Amino acid sequence: MNINKLFDTAIIGGGVAGSSLLFTLARYTDAKDIILFEKYDELAQLNSNPKANSQTLHVGDIETNYSFEKATKVKRDSSFVSNYIYNFNGVDDLGYIRDKMILAVGDAEIAKLKERYEEFLPLYPYLELWDETFLSEFEPKLMEGRKDPIMAIGARGQITTIDYKKLSESFAQQALDTDKNIQLHYNEEVHMIVRNDDGTFTIHTHNSNFTAKSIVVNAGAYSLLFAQSMGYGQEYAILPIGGSFFFTKEKLLNTKVYTMQNPKLPFAAIHADPDCTQDWNTRFGPTAFALPKLERYHRLHLKDLLSALHLGKAVTKVYMKLFRDKTIRRYIFKNFLEEIPKMGKQIFIRDARKIIPSLKTKDITFAEGYGGMRPQIIDKINKELLLGEAKIEESGIIFNMTPSPGATTSLAIALKDAKAICKHINFHFDDEKHKAEIQERKK
Ligand SMILES: Cc1cc2nc3c(=O)[nH]c(=O)nc-3n(C[C@H](O)[C@H](O)[C@H](O)COP(=O)(O)OP(=O)(O)OC[C@H]3O[C@@H](n4cnc5c(N)ncnc54)[C@H](O)[C@@H]3O)c2cc1C
Repeated sequence: MNINKLFDTAIIGGGVAGSSLLFTLARYTDAKDIILFEKYDELAQLNSNPKANSQTLHVGDIETNYSFEKATKVKRDSSFVSNYIYNFNGVDDLGYIRDKMILAVGDAEIAKLKERYEEFLPLYPYLELWDETFLSEFEPKLMEGRKDPIMAIGARGQITTIDYKKLSESFAQQALDTDKNIQLHYNEEVHMIVRNDDGTFTIHTHNSNFTAKSIVVNAGAYSLLFAQSMGYGQEYAILPIGGSFFFTKEKLLNTKVYTMQNPKLPFAAIHADPDCTQDWNTRFGPTAFALPKLERYHRLHLKDLLSALHLGKAVTKVYMKLFRDKTIRRYIFKNFLEEIPKMGKQIFIRDARKIIPSLKTKDITFAEGYGGMRPQIIDKINKELLLGEAKIEESGIIFNMTPSPGATTSLAIALKDAKAICKHINFHFDDEKHKAEIQERKK
């Protein structure tokens, strides 16, 4: 195998974003030589690891922070991953069919929930409205010791839980199973990318150099650092938000239970998830707090962190704007306290009791080794925090930043990027095959 040849595409980062692109390029385009660099010894060691994220396939049906428009898009984008799981024999291995719900607590939330049910039913015709009589049979723990009224919108028999590491490995295996020259370089950290005069790129790793006609950087928070080192994306900075979880010692729920989101704090409301890495014991979380790190459980590289933070007048203004809001200020402070051993549990339990009122502090433990970092993007020009994914696309090179629901939408992002690459290097994209295998579910 000649590793010094000119590759059609080089992918930097072996999380679910990088591996879904590897699969898409290998299976649906005529790109022949594709190389993927991953700095750790396996795929999906950072945010795509099931210990780092909530393992949810976000379809938009139980996420009350999604507008109808956003839900419509996420529904389509997430279907690529669920179709892959069905069509490539991944049920009960890569993804699991379970039940899920949004829980409304108190009259005000119930009124909003009913409105949402009416509005979203045409988009998700399988949704059901579950009252207390139903819930006390279906998930008795939700009712034990409950004082406030509750109601839920629920869905049964859907792919709810995904092991995004196994999914990444499956994508890579499918790519390797093609007749293409697919090279997976583990333990190979990319240090620098240089655009050459002839339009190709040279990739400098810690021990070698490679050339490629096109590049996609799917390196989480580091994608922005690569872009900026090449002079792109100077208008962005990163606010690294950590997320932690708490475990119960036993399985208390069969259903994924999301709660109603505060519109000022999207993604802040915790949920309870049956965890596929812990024999389906209940995992509560995530919390959300600013943490000066780009990787939750690995060594801190101060230089990278400072480059990502981009501290300056514009970024400080965004922080000040966030802090001026009382709800956000309180939330940040509370989540910071939740990280303090012992005390954290006492504070977190109040939120968890919204889901299971009878839960006691001794029933939960801090989920050591679980949790990840959400690289939230700050738009320095408009001085605002951007939610969701961000992409910087230049001729022949794409940089993706993928906070939640980036794992759910990975195959949809991969489709877009694969088409852009095909256009750049004049390759064919097999729309028909992609449609049959990814955009539709086989009978
Ligand atoms: C607490 C939490 C909960 C979440 N829950 C969900 C959820 O339920 N559902 C959902 O859809 N999304 C969820 N997300 C978001 C989801 O985890 C991410 O969108 C997704 O994992 C991003 O995938 P990625 O491949 O872009 O990044 P990563 O998985 O972080 O992969 C980036 C890869 O790039 C590699 N890399 C970095 N720099 C280099 C370099 N210089 N050279 C070589 N390799 C490099 C890294 O080692 C890593 O493997 C959650 C995130 C958090 C933090």
